[in-house]
This record gives sequence, C-alpha cells and structure tokens, in this order.
Amino acid sequence: MKKAILFLTATFLFSVTSLAQTGLDAVLPVRGLAIAAPQPEHVDEFIDFIREVLIPLKVNTLVLRVDYNYQYESHPELRNEDALSKADVKKLVAACREGNIRIIPQLNLLGHQSWAESLGNLLQHYPEFDETPQVDMPEDYQWPNDDGLYCKSYCPLHPDVHDVVFALVDELLEVFEADAFHAGMDEVFYLGDDRCPRCAGRDKAELFAGEVTRIHNHLAAQNKELWIWGDRLLDGKTTGLGMWEASMNQTYRAIDLIPKDVVINDWHYTRAAPTAPYFATKGFRVVTCPWRIADVATEQLKQMLLYREHAPPEMKDRFAGMMQTVWSGAKTFMDQYHGRISSENPRGGDQVATFKALFEEIGKLDVPDR
Ligand SMILES: [Zn+2]
Repeated sequence: MKKAILFLTATFLFSVTSLAQTGLDAVLPVRGLAIAAPQPEHVDEFIDFIREVLIPLKVNTLVLRVDYNYQYESHPELRNEDALSKADVKKLVAACREGNIRIIPQLNLLGHQSWAESLGNLLQHYPEFDETPQVDMPEDYQWPNDDGLYCKSYCPLHPDVHDVVFALVDELLEVFEADAFHAGMDEVFYLGDDRCPRCAGRDKAELFAGEVTRIHNHLAAQNKELWIWGDRLLDGKTTGLGMWEASMNQTYRAIDLIPKDVVINDWHYTRAAPTAPYFATKGFRVVTCPWRIADVATEQLKQMLLYREHAPPEMKDRFAGMMQTVWSGAKTFMDQYHGRISSENPRGGDQVATFKALFEEIGKLDVPDR
C-alpha cells in the first residue's frame, strides 16, 4: 500500500513537472550563452544577432557580462568611458523578450577586479577595498609572477564594499528587468590574504561562503536568483582538476556552507569532467559550460541528458542544462560567427565551432510532444 502511494505521488509529481515544461524545455531547461555585453556602438548588430541566430537556435538564457559597461546612476564614477545607456539596455531587453530569452546580467564580484595590467574600475576608485594593496599592478603582465597575481580581489570584510557593489547590482536587475544576477566569483586566488587586517588568519572556505551567502541574501530578499561559476567549490587536488577549473586555495568546503538555491555554472573547457552530479547531489542546480572544444561540448551535453534520464525526480531538474561561454567581446564573436575573422583559438579549438556544434545537437532534441 505504502509503495502504491509512493508510486502515485511520484507519478503525480512527474506529471506536474511535465505540465510545467514542454517540448525542448522539458528535455533541456537551460540553453544558454554567456558573452560580454556589446559596446554601445554594436548594440544594433547584437540585436540582429539575437533575432537571426540566438532565437532560431532556441537559446533561452543570455548571461551578459556587463561589469562597468553601463551608465550607472548610483555610482557614475564607476562607469566605463564608453558605456551602455538605459535606452541601449531596453532595446536588448525587448529583443530578448521576443524570443523568450531570459537575460542574466553579470558584474564580477569578489575576484576579477583587475585584468593583466589594468585595475578594474572598482579598485581604481576605491583602493581601500583592495584585498592586496601591497601588490602593485605590473607594467607588463606575465603569468606566472612572483606575486601570484592573476586578478585582484576586493576584501569581502571591508565594511563599505557592499554598499557600493549592491547599488550596482540593484541597478542592473532593474534596468535588465532580470530575475537573476550572475556574480562571477571564479578564479578567486587572492582571498584571506595574510596581510589583510580583516581577513588574515580566517578560513578561506568560510570567507568565500560568507561572500556568496551575503550576495545570495541580498538577492533573495528581492526574490532574485544568484548564479556563480563553480570552480571555487571543487577540490582541485583530489579531483586532479587543478587551480583554474577547481580550487587549490582551500575554498572548496564552501560547497557545504552556501545556500542550496545558488545556481552553479560548472565550466570545463578541455575535458567533459563529470562534476555535475557532485553539485546536483549536494542539492544545487547545475549548468554545464563549455568554451572552445566542440567535442567536449557535445560530450557534456550527452552527459547532461544521461544524468537527467537516470536521476530520481527530486534530482532531475538540478541537471539544469548547458551554457556556451564566449571569452571574447561580443563584436569579435559576431565577426567570427559570420566568418569575417578567424575563430580559431591559439590554444586550440574554436568557440564558434563549439557553439555551433552544441546548438546543432540541441536542435535535434526539439521533437514535438507525444
Ligand atoms: Zn580582507
């Protein structure tokens, strides 16, 4: 009897899920592209790209890396010189709405506060937020270097940093009419520095989890979702995944310290590492993210579908889907896509070929409901 009830309950839950999602959405809920927001002069071309490429390919999620490419009103000092206006953003929002594409704006929080020789706008204007003020920006950036400088971080325990960054987050949510925000948070190498008066000696997993939780809570209070990259939550040593796509700086225990409704973007670019089940088993929704190797992307898609097929109903939708990442500007990607410039990556592979291969396979899944 108990078994029968359980079976009926499971069937009922299954049909509710089926009702909620039909067609391709039921097969692969998230079909994403993560790319830099276009420069103002390329907004119209990008809108054509949304209409002519993304919508027909059934892309339904667009993570746009905005960072300081927006004319913030709360902190105009943080705008890039050339930045998107409110009108530009509203055009993007309208184009995405035509194709039911969900836009998730991104601003890198915690890490990625510098790139190569350039300090990001936040630390340029608020040097007191720098986790490692003793590290000078190099004239000619090289990796590796004596400072272990990849990107600067802000100090998550600085008492004033959140007033500034949350004002920007709230502006992005409003102007993009978004129900989710992407905080980046990948490759945070500078964290809990021995010379930071606030962080020195603290547990790095707790520092990382504290910052994720703080951002999550700020968003949850407005009924908005937090998306982050997953690398800091994986143990780079035990998995063999290393210091980039996983953590060698002791942050990985944060996986058990952060809220379960944070959406994890699990990126692996050169191999289809089987880490999605780890996140899903812990209770997180996980989106697998390829970049430049087409075979890796199609293999990751196969795995994602396999996990969805075999998972219990409670777990199935935590295997949320796939998101292609593009690590060039939007204009470069559009030029590459249309064959105006080469898209071959000097390190091997090709982000356009990967995007096309992934969405060609996704297109084959779009069978009418039986
Ligand atoms: Zn600090």
